[in-house]
Amino acid sequence: MIQRHGNRELWVNQAPIPLSTEEMDYVFGLTYARVPHPKYGKAKIPAYDMIKTSVNIMRGCFGGCSFCSITEHEGRIIQNRSKESILNELEEIRDKVPGFTGTISDLGGPTANMYRLGCSDPKAEANCRRPSCVFPGICNKLNTDHKHTIDLYREARKVDGIKKVMIASGVRYDLAIESPEYVRELVTHHVGGYLKIAPEHTEKGPLDLMMKPGMGTYDRFKEMFEQYSREAGKKQYLIPYFISAHPGTEDEDMLNLALWLKKNEFECDQVQNFYPSPMCNATSMYYSETNPLKRVKYKKREDVPVAKGERQRRLHKALLRYHDPANWPLIREALTQMGKKHLIGDKPSCLVPAEDKEAQTPAQRRRSGRHGANRFATKHTKNQPGFSGFKEKNQGDKPAHGKPKNKGKSGHNPHKGRTGKPKHRQASH
Ligand code: SF4
Repeated sequence: MIQRHGNRELWVNQAPIPLSTEEMDYVFGLTYARVPHPKYGKAKIPAYDMIKTSVNIMRGCFGGCSFCSITEHEGRIIQNRSKESILNELEEIRDKVPGFTGTISDLGGPTANMYRLGCSDPKAEANCRRPSCVFPGICNKLNTDHKHTIDLYREARKVDGIKKVMIASGVRYDLAIESPEYVRELVTHHVGGYLKIAPEHTEKGPLDLMMKPGMGTYDRFKEMFEQYSREAGKKQYLIPYFISAHPGTEDEDMLNLALWLKKNEFECDQVQNFYPSPMCNATSMYYSETNPLKRVKYKKREDVPVAKGERQRRLHKALLRYHDPANWPLIREALTQMGKKHLIGDKPSCLVPAEDKEAQTPAQRRRSGRHGANRFATKHTKNQPGFSGFKEKNQGDKPAHGKPKNKGKSGHNPHKGRTGKPKHRQASH
């Protein structure tokens, strides 16, 4: 595709032809130094810290989420490395990465659990025009057997010098629940206390346009996660991630999501507010206010409500951070306009306190039971399991009192709140 911008043209290539396993092994088997280019000298490179012990086991994704362009970059057909090539890389990391502690921070790819999965019918695959193999439901031609991933995890744990293998890539939980054995393996051996997953929303309207499964699937995965964590004798937490202002999201949808967060005692420290980015379906929804997932005719098309303009976008983001006093005036104003004044006040069913309650300190508010115990971030933080140390990031979404909530200084466990309850922080997709 070539698109003109002023007097210049942007040329977008289609996803490359999928590589075979042999080709993937060749690419990943080249003699990489596994350290930053010498020209950086001793500079600290955060991206290097993130990837230095992370292993890419595949490319591509058949999920087709509207806000993501991985399918366009890497293709919908999963390109897999062989198990041997991956295990060799683990040994390379062990032998070459300076200061390696024995922890692999990730064994994944665009999605954690699509390794060696794909269409079982090559003829159908060649002609298939579905944008996703898993939405609106899992295609009956899709092979969802997770045995190769389970086997890979087991073999990886056996490599000499490897003490722990974390899974930090996003787990596609609608696929995972098809394989309870996979969920058990993951939960028992590869979760460092927190597992991020991305329902992205709670409401059907935005979820359908995102091409994401409904909350029933999340609930099922949560049940399995909790059951296997209990059986493994581990206290582990599931951290859900959400997007505000995605095309198709109305104020009422964001309000329902905020009420869900409050009911489930979640407080997001950092949030992802949708921003139109190149090559995503959601971007065409944003600009055209039309549903490109349905047939578009000259006079007949499905309109999509889109949060645009500073106020509405701010409101959607504010509702995701309903607990932040800085957002209360805007939320109160919106609730009043929406005829939902009953959600303002001190009752447990209320979302924000009445105006005079703003004078309360955060500690007083916590005591009043208005605030959830579960806080989680949506950007990488250094206290993500598998990383040592911690540094607060993302100044734009600091807590309202202006201080980082966790400093990780001596004597303070960054995973615990002042009440001793766990605070959930997690890396984003
Ligand atoms: S037929 Fe089904 S499994 Fe095969 S490519 Fe199409 S959607 Fe995916």
